[in-house]
Amino acid sequence: MENQEKLRVPISDWILISFYVIIYPLAFCTTLVLFLFTFNDKTSQLIGLNAIMIIFLIINLFLYQIVFRKLNEYAKKVDFYHFTPSLADLLIHLIKQVYYVVFLGFLFTFVQNFLTNLPTTTLTGYLGVSIVISLLFEGILVVIRMRRKIALIQTAQEPVKDTIIQELYENFPESRTISEYRFADIQIPTLFLSAGVTTFGKNNYICLVSRYFNWKLTDEELIAVLLHEVGHIKNHHIRKAYLIIGTEVILRSLRIFIIIIMLLVISGHLETLKFDLYSILFLGLIFNAFLSSAFLNFVHRYRIFLAEIWADEYSARGVGATEVAKILRKLPQLIPSPLVYDQSSFLGFRVNLLRNLAKKH
Ligand SMILES: [Zn+2]
Repeated sequence: MENQEKLRVPISDWILISFYVIIYPLAFCTTLVLFLFTFNDKTSQLIGLNAIMIIFLIINLFLYQIVFRKLNEYAKKVDFYHFTPSLADLLIHLIKQVYYVVFLGFLFTFVQNFLTNLPTTTLTGYLGVSIVISLLFEGILVVIRMRRKIALIQTAQEPVKDTIIQELYENFPESRTISEYRFADIQIPTLFLSAGVTTFGKNNYICLVSRYFNWKLTDEELIAVLLHEVGHIKNHHIRKAYLIIGTEVILRSLRIFIIIIMLLVISGHLETLKFDLYSILFLGLIFNAFLSSAFLNFVHRYRIFLAEIWADEYSARGVGATEVAKILRKLPQLIPSPLVYDQSSFLGFRVNLLRNLAKKH
C-alpha cells in the first residue's frame, strides 16, 4: 500500500529549476547591468557588451562543434545524414531569429504607441527592462511547465510491478538512483513521448512510463525502457536541459535590448545609426546576439538527439542492442502518437544505430 501514495514534485526539483532558469540568468544579467552602470560612457558600454557576447558566441560555437562532430560520427556509422546540421540549417535558424525580432518589434511598437512616448533613460535602464521582460516571460513558461508536470505526476498512481523493480535493482544497481517507477497517462505532445524521468534530487528521481507499456510490453522489454531512462539520469540530461534554458533567458534579454534600442533610434529618441564606432559596435552586438542564439538553438536540438542515442546505448549495454532496437521498432504501434518509423525518421536512425551496435558484438 505504501507505494500507492500520491507522488509530489520534490523540493529539490523546484530548487534546481529556480537555480538554472531564474537565479543563474538573474546573476549573470545583474552583473551586466552593474557593468553598464559602472561604465557610464555609451561606447565603453557597447565595447563591454560586445566582449561578453563574443565569449558567449565562442562557448556556443564550441558546444555546437562538439554536438555536430558527435552526431556526425553516429551518422557515418550507419550512413544516415538526415539529422546532421548543414549550412542551410544555420541560415534557416538565422532567418527564424530575424522573424522573431520583427514580430517582437511590432509588439513593442504597439506598446510604444500605447504609451505615446517612451521615457528617455540610459542604456543601463533599457537593459534592465529587457532582462525583466525576458525573466517574466520565462517565469510564465516555468509555471506552465510545472503545472503540466504536476498534473502528469498526479496520474501516476500505479507503480511498476515489484518483481520487475526487484529484478532491475538487482541486475542494474545504477537503476537505484530512481526511487519511483510509475505508469502515467502520458499524452502526446507533452513533456515526454513515451517515458521520461522527471523531478530529481539526490537519489530522488521519478521515472514515469506510458500506461500503454504496462499492457503491451513484456517484463524484459519494460526493463529495457526503464534502463533507457536511467541512462538519461546517468548522463545528467535534465540538468543540461535546464542550463540551456537559463542561457536562452540571457540571450533573449539581449535580443529584447537590441529591439528596444532600434525602436529608440527609429522613433528619434536616440541618434540614428551612422558610420561611426558606436554604430559599428551596435551592429556587432546585433550580429553576435543572433549568431549566438542560432548556435544555441542548434546545440539544444542536436543535444536532444544525442541524449536519446546515449540513453539507448546505456540500455543496450544492459539488455542488448537487439532488444532495445526491437522495442523502438514497434514504438509507433505501442502508443497513440504521431511517431513514424521509416528510413528518414529519427526513430529509424536510432534503430539503425542499435542494429549496427548489435552487429559489432
Ligand atoms: Zn529518452
